[in-house]
Amino acid sequence: MADGADRGPAAGGRAPAQAPQRATWCDERFDFEATFLQCLAKHVPNIYSAEMDPLVEKQEEMVQAAILYPLECYLFGEDPDVFLEKLQQSGTSQLCGKVFKGGETTYSCRDCAVDPTCVLCIDCFQNSIHKNHRYKMHSSTGGGFCDCGDTEAWKAGPLCTKHEPGASSSPKENSECQLSEEIMEHSRRVFPSVIKYIVDMLIWEEEKELPVELTIREKVDSYYCVLFNDEHHSYDHVIYSLQRALGCELGEAQLHTTAIDKEGRRAVKAGHYASCQEAKEEIKRHSENVSQRPLHVEVLHADVMAHQKFALRLGSWLNKLMSYSSDFRQIFCQICLKEEAGSENPCFISKLMLWDARLHKGARKILHELIFSSFFMEMEYKKLFAIEFVKYYKALQKEYISDDHDRVLSVTALSVQMFTVPTLARHLIEEQNVITTITETLLEVLPEYLDKNDKFNFQGYSQDKLSRVYAVIYDLRYVLVSKPTVWTDRLRERFLEGFVSFLRILTCMQGMEEIKRQIGQHIEVDPDWEAAIAIQMQLKNILLMFQEWCACDEELLLRSYSECHKAVMRCSTNGRSREKTVFHLCGHTLESRPYRVSADPVSIHLPLSRTLAGLHVRLSKTGAISRLHEFVSPEDFQVELLVEYPLRCLVLVAQVAAEMWRRNGLSLISQVFYYQDVKCREEMYDKDIIMLQIGASLMDPNQFLLLILQRYELADAFKKIKPTKDQDLIKQYNVLIEEMLQILIYVVGERYVPGISNVTKEDVIMREIIHLLCIEPMAHSAITKSLPENENNETGLENVIDKVATFKKPGVSGHGVYELKDECLKEFNMFFYHYTKTQHSKAEHTQKKRRKQENRDEALPPPPPPDFSPAFSNVVRILNCDVMMHILRTLLQRAVELETHLWTEAMIQMVLHLLSLGLLEEKQQLQKCPEEEVTFDFYHKATRMGSSALNAVNVLMLLEKLKRVPQLEAQKDTVNWILQMFDMVKRLREKSSLATVGATSGSEATKGDESTQDKEKAERKRKAEAARLHRQKIMAQMSALQRNFIETHKLLYENTLEAQGKDDAIMEEESISSAIDYSRIALGPKRGPSVAEKEILTCILCQEEQEVKLESAAMVLSACVQKSTALTQNRSRILDLSGDTVDPLFMHPDLPCGTHTGSCGHVMHAACWQKYFEAIQLNFRQRLHVEQIFDLENGEYLCPLCKSLCNTVIPIVPLQAQKINSEDAEAVAQILSLARWLEIVTVRISGYSMKNAKGEKQNLPPFTNKGTGNSALEFHSILSFGVQSSAKYSSSIKEMLILFATTIYRVGLKVAPNEADSRIPVMTWSTCAFTIQCIENLLETEGKPLFGSLQNRQHSGLKALVQFAAAQRTTSPQVLIQKHLLRLLGVLLPNFRGEDTPSLLEVDMFHILVGTVLSFPSLYWEDAVDLQPSSVSSAYNHLYLFHLTTLAHIMQIIISSATESPAAHSSDNGEEAQSAQSFCRELCQHTSGCFSQDIPGWLVWDCVKKGIMPYLRCAALFFHYLLGVSPPEELLQVSEEGQFKALCSYLSLPTNLFLLFHDYRDAVNPLLQRWCTDPVVLSCLKGKSIAIRYPRKRNHLIELPEDYSCLLNQASQFKCPRSSDDEQKHPVLCLFCGAMLCSQNTCCQELVNGEELGACTSHALQCGAGVCMFLKIRECKVVLIEGKTRGCLYPAPYLDEYGETDPGLKRGNPLHLCQERYRKLHLLWQQHCIIEEIARSQETNQIFFGFNWQLL
Ligand SMILES: [Zn+2]
Ligand SMILES: [Zn+2]
Ligand SMILES: [Zn+2]
Ligand SMILES: [Zn+2]
Ligand SMILES: [Zn+2]
Ligand SMILES: [Zn+2]
Ligand SMILES: [Zn+2]
Repeated sequence: MADGADRGPAAGGRAPAQAPQRATWCDERFDFEATFLQCLAKHVPNIYSAEMDPLVEKQEEMVQAAILYPLECYLFGEDPDVFLEKLQQSGTSQLCGKVFKGGETTYSCRDCAVDPTCVLCIDCFQNSIHKNHRYKMHSSTGGGFCDCGDTEAWKAGPLCTKHEPGASSSPKENSECQLSEEIMEHSRRVFPSVIKYIVDMLIWEEEKELPVELTIREKVDSYYCVLFNDEHHSYDHVIYSLQRALGCELGEAQLHTTAIDKEGRRAVKAGHYASCQEAKEEIKRHSENVSQRPLHVEVLHADVMAHQKFALRLGSWLNKLMSYSSDFRQIFCQICLKEEAGSENPCFISKLMLWDARLHKGARKILHELIFSSFFMEMEYKKLFAIEFVKYYKALQKEYISDDHDRVLSVTALSVQMFTVPTLARHLIEEQNVITTITETLLEVLPEYLDKNDKFNFQGYSQDKLSRVYAVIYDLRYVLVSKPTVWTDRLRERFLEGFVSFLRILTCMQGMEEIKRQIGQHIEVDPDWEAAIAIQMQLKNILLMFQEWCACDEELLLRSYSECHKAVMRCSTNGRSREKTVFHLCGHTLESRPYRVSADPVSIHLPLSRTLAGLHVRLSKTGAISRLHEFVSPEDFQVELLVEYPLRCLVLVAQVAAEMWRRNGLSLISQVFYYQDVKCREEMYDKDIIMLQIGASLMDPNQFLLLILQRYELADAFKKIKPTKDQDLIKQYNVLIEEMLQILIYVVGERYVPGISNVTKEDVIMREIIHLLCIEPMAHSAITKSLPENENNETGLENVIDKVATFKKPGVSGHGVYELKDECLKEFNMFFYHYTKTQHSKAEHTQKKRRKQENRDEALPPPPPPDFSPAFSNVVRILNCDVMMHILRTLLQRAVELETHLWTEAMIQMVLHLLSLGLLEEKQQLQKCPEEEVTFDFYHKATRMGSSALNAVNVLMLLEKLKRVPQLEAQKDTVNWILQMFDMVKRLREKSSLATVGATSGSEATKGDESTQDKEKAERKRKAEAARLHRQKIMAQMSALQRNFIETHKLLYENTLEAQGKDDAIMEEESISSAIDYSRIALGPKRGPSVAEKEILTCILCQEEQEVKLESAAMVLSACVQKSTALTQNRSRILDLSGDTVDPLFMHPDLPCGTHTGSCGHVMHAACWQKYFEAIQLNFRQRLHVEQIFDLENGEYLCPLCKSLCNTVIPIVPLQAQKINSEDAEAVAQILSLARWLEIVTVRISGYSMKNAKGEKQNLPPFTNKGTGNSALEFHSILSFGVQSSAKYSSSIKEMLILFATTIYRVGLKVAPNEADSRIPVMTWSTCAFTIQCIENLLETEGKPLFGSLQNRQHSGLKALVQFAAAQRTTSPQVLIQKHLLRLLGVLLPNFRGEDTPSLLEVDMFHILVGTVLSFPSLYWEDAVDLQPSSVSSAYNHLYLFHLTTLAHIMQIIISSATESPAAHSSDNGEEAQSAQSFCRELCQHTSGCFSQDIPGWLVWDCVKKGIMPYLRCAALFFHYLLGVSPPEELLQVSEEGQFKALCSYLSLPTNLFLLFHDYRDAVNPLLQRWCTDPVVLSCLKGKSIAIRYPRKRNHLIELPEDYSCLLNQASQFKCPRSSDDEQKHPVLCLFCGAMLCSQNTCCQELVNGEELGACTSHALQCGAGVCMFLKIRECKVVLIEGKTRGCLYPAPYLDEYGETDPGLKRGNPLHLCQERYRKLHLLWQQHCIIEEIARSQETNQIFFGFNWQLL
């Protein structure tokens, strides 16, 4: 219904003006409203009569013609289209106001946005200055709108260039054109009636009747049964209920359900009242059966339904109108806000707001859009709307909370649009008291969670309902987000009122959800804790903002402090009834009421206490603390009571750590975790520490410590040693002592809070970051996650990070990290209060290791802390008070006396830390003021003897003894450091009493330091050396031990392989130098010898070595055969070359789809592999239900060593070394010319044909017209140039030859295995040729030399593949091979041409070459004797076959590529160019002029030279791996020119390729004749068809934009090709071809072979032969898929400035393309490693099993 097409000026399909109707309205004498309603009454029921099966276009036409067109004519006084066009031209609003749909990308600027809710649409963003700022990208949840043009939303650049005044095409100075008075007058007449009609109809409650004005005709018994949407019932529930209740088909029920979900309601049945009523009851009954709650169904009269529908249509009509003119908007708003005089009724807009929760989805959408397009586009009216909104705020929120639609669909979601506007927020606070309104709303909606003590208790809460309450809390956050700069009295009063009201909520939270320690039995059910913690999280920033607001103004701060203090006191009542008890220690006493955390109830929720603590530090910071007594009298202050509750909470944490609460289950553990976690700690843990610091600053230090001891239940532990043997209890005590010491360290040492000391917020963040980076270098996102976010979701990280850390860029994988700068290391505090236990030990370890590496001592004393501010300066007194000394001494004593069960190393570390803190404090004080003024004397206290027996020794003496305790070896350096500090402080005291300056003493002290350091350095060095030797010994032992360990085999094996590889290289080099005279020619009479070294391989399974020999048992390489489109030249025309009827003999020059064979290069015995494969088969058969990542049926398995996915093995066949006698060869050369060779071959073949197919006549024309002794030639001539017997393979090799060949056939053609199929040898040659082409392509794109740069796995894979392809022939019938050979030769030789022989331009010549070379030996087959050509014969056969295909390929190139007129001119007139020129003349004759001889020779030569390169490179690879002849050195390097010459020499070609035609003129002329008269060639020459050009283009992944937002932009414009609804789509980009697909959506599923496949999966079948690579644009993730069942996610090649990827765009930082990573993806594709990557990722990442890749 929300008709988007309506927005433009040309709505299209308008009916011509109808004069009569126009007249009634134009007449001023008529009452407009009455006429209007009459018109509606007449038309509307007719137009919307067919509700069940509406013809939407027809309805729209009728609405336009009968109502809207006349209405507009009247309103504008002229043709509406013309008028609106004029209005459109005259300018647009300065506000963009685009309303976001769910999933649309929004942009915010971290530099300029006032708060993170200020966002831009993609258009505005792209045209704004923020594009170059630190922006954030996010996915909209729907319902927001673009803030472009809102000056309050942006600190800078509020307008994009599109919305800037004067930017529109119109030259008018004011962006809005004024409407004429007449039109305004008409609007004032029309709008009220229209609005009233809409309101009346939308809130119409009668089901059967209409208002009288609309009832004009006889009522008919025509009703609809209407079903409404709710969020309770699932899709399937509704479909089920409908099918049952209405007895309809599944399809119809689905249709209804989809519509209901989209629109919110739908008529599911039409008929008489009774039948509709019956259907209603049925639906309710069935739905109640499935889900306990009936669906919402109503029976509506047809006319009511029609008018409601039309009311919404009018709503969108108004919506359109609003966009044209500010005047329309203002008139509209005025009418909406107008209250009836003397009536209590709310105005129109409020009525609609209040009715919102009762409207169906579709109606709400239109209503909200209307509000956006009118009120929110006019600042003044936005304010008036906000006032109305706040007026009804409570009611609206309550409606929302009991509503069951998403928040986006609620009018309450509009709050963010108003409350975040700073001026509006201020106005609403001042005039509407909005803070109080919100807090009262909270108080009114939360009572259901209050217990008998008026505290919240969320046990058994409903997640959904409570999360609706969060929305109210969020509103509070919005109102507070911008702090006022100017305070009026009224604002102050209102704010305070709101604050007090807010304190009432906190009062209900203070002490909520108390828990009691469980003793004896474990609790049965974990209580719900999430709700309370979630509210704490929600409140964290609100609490902070309240404190910030309070601190704006001294008066306000003091008054709010006093209010908060009162509230805390009111809550601090519990335990008051108990009698006070007295506790003595060291001559000090503490009177307190007994309370034990381990026995009495305790709560971790203390927001009031913590707010007070927050206000207290602000008092200290602003200095207002000096006036505190005016507001809170000292006798009322009661600091012990304030400290009490936070202290209990900290003790609880300690007891949990001591495992005293383990019977209370996991819920407590989780609460304690969040209490200290970064999401909550600022308003929980941190504030409790502050409260203790407040206590320490205001209480007597001894009393304070006694209180701490008592609450930690450790009073006895420091009095006397209880002789207990209970290990658990001892352990428990030790942990508690550690925990308490830690808290004492924090109370004294943690001063990085503004107000506690004089630090800034920046200092605080820097310190946090330093301590994070002391653990390890971290990624930007990891640091961000560990820092608290403020109300604007900022951590302040970027402002300071560069001061403390340096950025290290990422490599091709991984991410960038920050490393701490060296000068910051001194800030490291081992007992940093935000460290978790693991972080603490990691950091300590890292820092100690670092110091060791730098050869320094391992002491890590605390850094000197900043001074306390005056209000807190008393805290340090607890360091040197009696009780503290007692504690320290007692613990040290225990350590020295070796009572091992009473102390721990950690405890002593903390004691040492506290000692250091005391000494540092004294040193700092002494350095600042004269000694007599320093009251802090730690030194004397620590060196004084104790009086009791226990204290008979002083601290200093204890420390000396400590050095000798063996368990504390690691602390020796620290102890030394402390002793030096003692010394220094002593000297400072002495010096200052001698009135010398402290500076000299300082330097002396450091000198002393140095001399001891030197000594220790030497000692350390000695130790390090000893340690190194020890390590070596252990390593040697280890490696001996590990030999049997499979993992080690892997390592060892890989190492040896590498080493072997190096050896090979060296050997090759040696052979080069020693055998420099060896010919490096692969073909013909000068052919060099094969370099075939003995191959000894190790089986990765049994670890035994074996030499590869023909007659031995087979060894195999694990391998993976796959179909591939990696080389295709025409992705739109990818042929599916599979199935039973396909003839794979000829490869199309497009290389559409080939069969690639890859290997991971790991060798096994065939027998071992078979055993292994059977074992996994058996294994999986036994575990039926385990989902497997590989398909055993299709022979898949994981390589036992590297876990690559494989589906077969390649047998390793040794190369047969060949060497020819040059004299023989020369002799043969005399007789065996090409022509003669052709004759012999022809005779041989025709001989066979006669033999094999008697009766069939074969007519073979002679090759030469000279008649050179034809008679001499006979069937056996071919044998006379030398034969040898065929190689004899062992049966196991033969078996493997057959197995592998069958796999290639099965995978390549997607058919069932059949060992006897005639296409098996063809597929063998084809995969051999295709794989070589892939490798050649890869080497070229990687810029690597042709030889010597292949990876080991590629090298051994290719070698095995080529040798296999040569050997495979022996396992097939030779007659079959001969048949294939004959057909292949048919392409080259006219006399073998058959019916199905393709034209020269329709085949890939390299495939022909490989096929003919590998099948040629079959011509030597003599009846029962399997002979093969001798080395000399082979040399000639190879040479001539290669030359023939080369000639043909040159023809291909010239015909297809050299026909264009030159783009550049060249004067090159070398030998080649001249030869080319003369050859062209020849061609011209042969083609009777079709080939133009005007093409310059140099151009032809240029084309040929460039075009033939890939072919020559492939041929060189092929012959090298076939024959083992070393290639010329030039091919081991990358050099353009050298390469061509070297290739020609290696392949026995003249560098002037045209000489071939010249030299072989006699033999070649008939061929040329035949090639040139081919109809396909001629048609190509005539320009009638296009042949593939050479060199073929090298495939690359599509080009991606540098800036990721460009992709998002494309995605936002993406339209699904199959559906037009405004549903959220998931556009996905194919990286092979650039197609944009609509993924994971039913609209684009495709039925393939009876299976529903998603758009990606079906595209992949076409585009990548099943393997494909996609980019999910909205999620910024790459997806790799294979077939229908496998896939994995892969990081997208986009990085933010911190070198991190952002899957899911969760962080939203700007992203840029990383070329290296994209290249890595490209290689993954071209190396055919996608399948491997998927298998690997699935193995490690089992979660993706659940994903249905098929529907992607
Ligand atoms: Zn915009
Ligand atoms: Zn804009
Ligand atoms: Zn900006
Ligand atoms: Zn083996
Ligand atoms: Zn492997
Ligand atoms: Zn594609
Ligand atoms: Zn679609």
